[in-house]
Amino acid sequence: NGRLHGKRAIITAAGQGIGRASALAMAREGAHVFATDVNSDALASLQDEAKGQLETFAMDVLDVASVNEGISRAAPDILFNCAGFVHHGTIQEATEDDIDFAMDLNVKSMFRTIRAALPGMLERGTGSIINMSSACSSVIGAPNRFVYGTSKAAVLGLTKSVAVEYITKGIRCNAICPGTVDSPSMHDRLRATGDYVAALKAFVARQPMGRIASAEEIAALVVYLASDDSAFITGQPHVIDGGWSG
Ligand code: NAD
Repeated sequence: NGRLHGKRAIITAAGQGIGRASALAMAREGAHVFATDVNSDALASLQDEAKGQLETFAMDVLDVASVNEGISRAAPDILFNCAGFVHHGTIQEATEDDIDFAMDLNVKSMFRTIRAALPGMLERGTGSIINMSSACSSVIGAPNRFVYGTSKAAVLGLTKSVAVEYITKGIRCNAICPGTVDSPSMHDRLRATGDYVAALKAFVARQPMGRIASAEEIAALVVYLASDDSAFITGQPHVIDGGWSG
């Protein structure tokens, strides 16, 4: 059994990081999990780790045909929109291409997946949509996160709009706003600064708890929002940042 027994869940960007930890956690709670990503190698390694407890297939959230096909295959009760990219830099460093790409991957991807998932959720009268935002959004500003923070704030507007529209139809829509989380891309970002050790120290220094989060800690919140334990919660940004914005 488990808290997600009998539910079908699709996760975008489930190959690594928070999406992967959430796919594994949802499977442990008894959901029928469809873990998707553009990186097939990452999905294969997830499949090995999960030992047959979930399904994986390639889905590109930038491609509407790929999204429509994937969502129709999964017929989800739970949709976790996890895909997103972190651009580094200020408003003066950002290019038109940077902001277009971030809005496409971090925001418009959710427009695509939610539109594809809604008809089935409405038909069944149940659904939980969870959108990946960040503490760096309309919650707080962070240095060198202009494009990123702009796009993640848009996710909160999108979330509230969807929540209010379907509130009487059994469909909930929430966002999660993590602080810094240990993930493969976080290590890439630290390396990209040219001084990995100093950059890690700076990330940790802004955390009142003196540490960053694990992907599993974020996955626990995702499971809660996916489950009926959170049945009275919709339209909210759920900040999980070790006190960073507190
Ligand atoms: P990550 O950045 O390490 O991995 C991202 C995954 O997204 C990869 O597996 C990649 O293949 C996949 N991906 C890229 N383009 C895709 C596409 N077009 N379609 C489908 N999948 C695609 O993972 P992470 O750091 O856990 O980040 C996941 C989400 O969490 C992102 O939206 C990120 O902004 C957000 N987030 C991360 C942190 C953090 O500190 N790591 C903090 C707050 C929010």
